[in-house]
Amino acid sequence: MRECIYCRNQKDDDEFTLEHVLPQFIGGAYAPDELKTRDVCKKCNSNLGLFVDAGFEKSWLVHNHLKSAAHAFFNPEKPTGLPFVCMGSSDLQPPEMSDGEVCELWLGPLGERVYWIRETDERLYWYSGGNPRTVKKKKSRAYFIFSERSNKNIVLSWLSFKECFEGKKVKKIMCSTVEGADPLKIGFSNPDELDHERINYFFTHTRQNEREVGSAAMYLHYDIRFLAKIAIGVSYCLFGKKILNTDYMQELNKALWYRQGEELPNVNFGSNLRSKDDGLLSEMLGCENAVTLTLLPNPVGLGINLNISSSLNWVAQCALNEDLDDEDLQKIGNGLVIVSFKTLQKGIALEYPDFLAYKIGSYQHDGLNEIYNQMGKHKDYFKNL
Ligand SMILES: [Zn+2]
Repeated sequence: MRECIYCRNQKDDDEFTLEHVLPQFIGGAYAPDELKTRDVCKKCNSNLGLFVDAGFEKSWLVHNHLKSAAHAFFNPEKPTGLPFVCMGSSDLQPPEMSDGEVCELWLGPLGERVYWIRETDERLYWYSGGNPRTVKKKKSRAYFIFSERSNKNIVLSWLSFKECFEGKKVKKIMCSTVEGADPLKIGFSNPDELDHERINYFFTHTRQNEREVGSAAMYLHYDIRFLAKIAIGVSYCLFGKKILNTDYMQELNKALWYRQGEELPNVNFGSNLRSKDDGLLSEMLGCENAVTLTLLPNPVGLGINLNISSSLNWVAQCALNEDLDDEDLQKIGNGLVIVSFKTLQKGIALEYPDFLAYKIGSYQHDGLNEIYNQMGKHKDYFKNL
């Protein structure tokens, strides 16, 4: 029998699985092996992935910031698609939508539109694209409409259409006819009677309407459980079992299992979205179009700083000095920074002092330089199109 670090239940050995304490989208794959553990039960691994990791990643702001990085690294010489961005639910009411369904509007790289009619999930109302498990299983329908700008790079539109909703159980309908191209070859289906009615509806309404209202739902505490989960995982991986019995860990644990409406736990978390912030942390600890995670020794212990594209920034205290001994402090060392570029499938880990030196220009990092030179080359492609 062992204890799971998240639910704190005693379970049999075969109920445990490998956990990356940093999820993939914040550079888990590039993190050192010390930040992996086998002391997480399968149930937590799976449920916290859906309710905690996805609750953060799919919240509207985070979701769109993560997607916009793909645009920054777009290379017009290489034919690739780009992700669609979720604009929230549309106020359009296409025919035969049921009460439990929503019509979500997604925008493509050249202004292409997708109306996605799918089931809603009341519990996960702030998730862009809904419950990721439901959309893999339950059939939904999506209607694709070209924009006038699509002609500027039709291959880009075409490839983006192809990649949009991959892995989801979506019936994809092309609303326009494309001369010389066969939409069935890139995953579209033939429209049935209902689809034809809806296509007519979309064309009539998008032509008549001067404006369309989209609404994105936001849950204000979408980040608490996520920050707590990383703080617990990092702390445990570095400092071991003894850290689980501290008072601060109890508060982190309350934060991990926080439910809407409960009193907020006494943890030191912060975000530049909530507080007046001078932008210094974002500037110093962030990298454009990357997710940056810093393990940061600070005057009270060990903190983490999470930054998306030098724009969204969070801080969370992992452990307090009073609970750490000299050996623990040695493990923190000078701190560690993981810079991850998901679109490029690249990640770079470097020591905190080296990273700071890189940021102020007194140290050149070949890997980071190469990535940012590449990004700079096509920076204005979409602007000049
Ligand atoms: Zn568990």
